[in-house]
Amino acid sequence: MSAQPDAYTEALDRALLHAQAWLASLPSRPVGPRVDADTLAALSEGPLPASPTSPADVIDELASFAEPGLMAMPSGRFFGWVIGGTLPAALAADWLVTAWDQNAGMRFATPATAVLEETAGGWLLDLLGLPLGADVGFTTGATMANFVGLAAGRQWILEQSGWDLDRNGLAGSPRVRVFVGAERHDVIDLTLRYLGLGAPIVVDVDEEGRLRPDALAELMTAGDGPAIVCLQAGNVHSGASDPMGAAIDVAHRHGAWVHVDGAFGLWAAASPSYRAQLAGVESADSWATDAHKTLNVPYDCGVAIVSRPEVVRKVFGVHTSYLVAADATPGHPGPGDPFEKVPELSRRARGVPVWAALRSLGRDGTIALVDGLAANARALADGLLAMPGVEVLNQVVFTQVCVSFGSDERTRLVTQRLIADGSAWMSGSRWHGRDILRISVSNWSTDATDVALSLAAVARAGAAVEADAGR
Ligand SMILES: *Cc1c(COP(=O)(O)O)cnc(C)c1O
Repeated sequence: MSAQPDAYTEALDRALLHAQAWLASLPSRPVGPRVDADTLAALSEGPLPASPTSPADVIDELASFAEPGLMAMPSGRFFGWVIGGTLPAALAADWLVTAWDQNAGMRFATPATAVLEETAGGWLLDLLGLPLGADVGFTTGATMANFVGLAAGRQWILEQSGWDLDRNGLAGSPRVRVFVGAERHDVIDLTLRYLGLGAPIVVDVDEEGRLRPDALAELMTAGDGPAIVCLQAGNVHSGASDPMGAAIDVAHRHGAWVHVDGAFGLWAAASPSYRAQLAGVESADSWATDAHKTLNVPYDCGVAIVSRPEVVRKVFGVHTSYLVAADATPGHPGPGDPFEKVPELSRRARGVPVWAALRSLGRDGTIALVDGLAANARALADGLLAMPGVEVLNQVVFTQVCVSFGSDERTRLVTQRLIADGSAWMSGSRWHGRDILRISVSNWSTDATDVALSLAAVARAGAAVEADAGR
């Protein structure tokens, strides 16, 4: 089958129409899906049809099948988990990336996407105030970005203790102690399992979930051997960040590699108003963040940043004859190939939507994006505090708000009512031994109307629970 240029036209036209219908439905559709996965699975039963179907018909069938089962995650009234929407430039750039279909691993083979990703990486380092010589790799998300930083840390710290990891593996190596705060994200433990590093040593945190540097110092002094300290910028419940400067000082005094999980919280560093919360973060050794959360590019896109390019390239570089590697002179690693910075060899050019998002926002727009998310979180917290019987459990320092409606039971009931109401989505969670309703403001499009409608939805849910109780 030879691909005539117009072989794509009809299907792409249909996709554009369906995409526009979806985007147009976001302001008014209920946030939750109308059917569950089991119902959809029952509808989709049956073997793969034997005969072909035209591309345009496939797209029509796909869109109408999916429509009731889609969640309005890109809605300005979606505050669940920590999930961003999509900026227009980023969405459109993502489509181009798909049409270009570049296997973006080699600088020599796909120079356009390689350079766009390098440019986006440089802009990110500048915005976040990180060392300009650091390597930036684009991963599927913060999970893999954390994996990259911790893998680089494992490599470096074992090298420092004279252990050749590449030759000997981990069996018989010195035990690497990994220190984490008690409220790190679960994926840190997951990536430590990928890396064969076992269970971390857990450091006490304060009431906002921030790691205590004095507790870290005590634990580090109690043992010895190679160490990695994994800090957090942005606690998913409180939004607070570990005290970077003090914790990094302690870690570096003990010769440790310091990695920062800043999936959404690292973006505070982009704003003059919030940067002080991360003072000292630039002296860590590696950082992970997401572009698909705060920066609002489409899934999936994380960012792995490593201060020592030679270490990350040692971990992820592949040296086969058929891959043509970018030039590098000793001591000056050069830009490097995209495949040397992330776990994947073949991948889409997922840094290009980052380029487009940043290009469309500019520096001022990026700052305004971060400030706007935090301002909306503050507005939601203030509106909730004005409701009788509502407690805000965290200091609202960034984009996260944790709320209780009194008893655990009442909080759970209000959460259920709110979800059933459908005009806004917030997640039920547990924090510090209490059931909570958690709000994460991560969508660029959330505006004052969304905030007002969402507060009204919470008030309705609260009133409904009240009415049920009085019955
Ligand atoms: C979301 C998140 C992660 C995981 O990121 P993914 O993009 O889902 O892989 C890790 N740490 C923190 C603090 C997060 O908020």
